[in-house]
Amino acid sequence: MIGAGGVAGVAAYKCCQNNAVFSDLMIASRTLSRCDALKARLLEKFGGKGGGNAACGGATASGVCIDKSAALTNISTAQVDADDTAQLVALIRSFKPDIVINVALPYQDLSIMDACLETGVHYVDTANYEPPDTAKFEYGWQWAYRERFRNAGITALLGSGFDPGVTGVFCAYAQKHYFDDIHEIDILDANAGDHGLPFATNFNPEINIREITANGRYFENGAFVETRPLEIKRVYNFPEIGDKDIYLLYHEELESLAANIRGIRRIRFWMTFSEKYLTHLKVLENVGMTSIRPIVFDGREIIPLQFLKAVLPDPASLGPLTKGKTNIGCIVRGAKGGKPKDYYVYNVCDHEECYRETGAQAISYTTGVPAMIGASMLLTGAWKGPGVFNIEEFDPDPFMGALNVFGLPWKESFEPELLNG
Ligand code: NDP
Repeated sequence: MIGAGGVAGVAAYKCCQNNAVFSDLMIASRTLSRCDALKARLLEKFGGKGGGNAACGGATASGVCIDKSAALTNISTAQVDADDTAQLVALIRSFKPDIVINVALPYQDLSIMDACLETGVHYVDTANYEPPDTAKFEYGWQWAYRERFRNAGITALLGSGFDPGVTGVFCAYAQKHYFDDIHEIDILDANAGDHGLPFATNFNPEINIREITANGRYFENGAFVETRPLEIKRVYNFPEIGDKDIYLLYHEELESLAANIRGIRRIRFWMTFSEKYLTHLKVLENVGMTSIRPIVFDGREIIPLQFLKAVLPDPASLGPLTKGKTNIGCIVRGAKGGKPKDYYVYNVCDHEECYRETGAQAISYTTGVPAMIGASMLLTGAWKGPGVFNIEEFDPDPFMGALNVFGLPWKESFEPELLNG
């Protein structure tokens, strides 16, 4: 596992819980002390005994076997600069993993994919590659690796977080079980958690703010339509959360879903933001603090957004503070047997419960659980085939089963409230 931040903490915890699949885990990141601290937390939590999962005592319908009697996952740690492929190759050669789970930052995707190619090891990530100097949210760079991964006989699974990740699996599940044709998808991401701080982001602030301050975009009738940032707003009454303001954003899974869901006419992504959050963001943007263009300060070049990240709370520190729930899901509209059909599939996650279990809030939790599940799909052979794949290209059923086992149960509705317009 590369990275030792909020998402890595949950993914590593879930690997230990799924210890029949993950017998050995190396946590490698830029700062060794964070890897060691995570290892110490895991050893304390699992007490040197097998992880297992109270919810399930053996093989499950999902094909994921949880063996409570298996020994604790062996955990080792290492320092690595994941921007440096040579360092990664040396580390992979010394540890000899079957898979690399990339939960560092999107900037490292390509150097890690290069190292996987050189060493013949499978690859999983949770966010598409981003060049540090421009915010693009495009899969093109990683899709360009398809032939090389195919030729090497290894698999790269892209976007195995929640969104992207579970949202793609939800769409594939809807397509497989409920629709002949899908016409419209709305992905709804609500975070009704409150950490009590004036302003903080729930995951890496740099990536989060780049995403929100970019232009909005959605797919309609074969092309992407661009909007100004946060230009389109609606109110949606979320199950278990209630009414929330939602804003249309571009999100990377729109690109792959537009290509992989047959017959799709429109697909949009919506996220909730509070007034307070948006006001802080607006001020920071107006004074230039969210810019990714370098400036010279005190004779040194700095990037304002990276400086802002340094003064904002570490997302990992929000765990003990955050109360409330998230609700992330997909409203799918289409046809079955010549009749119109609506379907809503979603997960509700409670910040405090996530913290009690893993020491992390729900945003890290909802990303770390699917990162582990995606890796286990490849390790157990439930998903296989050489090449580079987005998550909706695989059979959704084993993944959907594993979500129920590993802490992200989902619910369905066939008469959902629809978005107005
Ligand atoms: P954090 O900032 O908490 O953690 C990132 C980790 O990566 C840190 O441990 C950091 O090291 C390490 N890292 C950064 N650069 C390097 C490098 N060059 N070499 C080695 N390690 C490095 O981020 P999160 O845990 O919140 O997010 C992790 C990933 O998950 C991101 O890519 C994010 O975009 C993605 N994500 C995906 C979601 C989804 O639903 N699909 C949702 C939320 C996040 P250090 O400790 O030294 O800083």
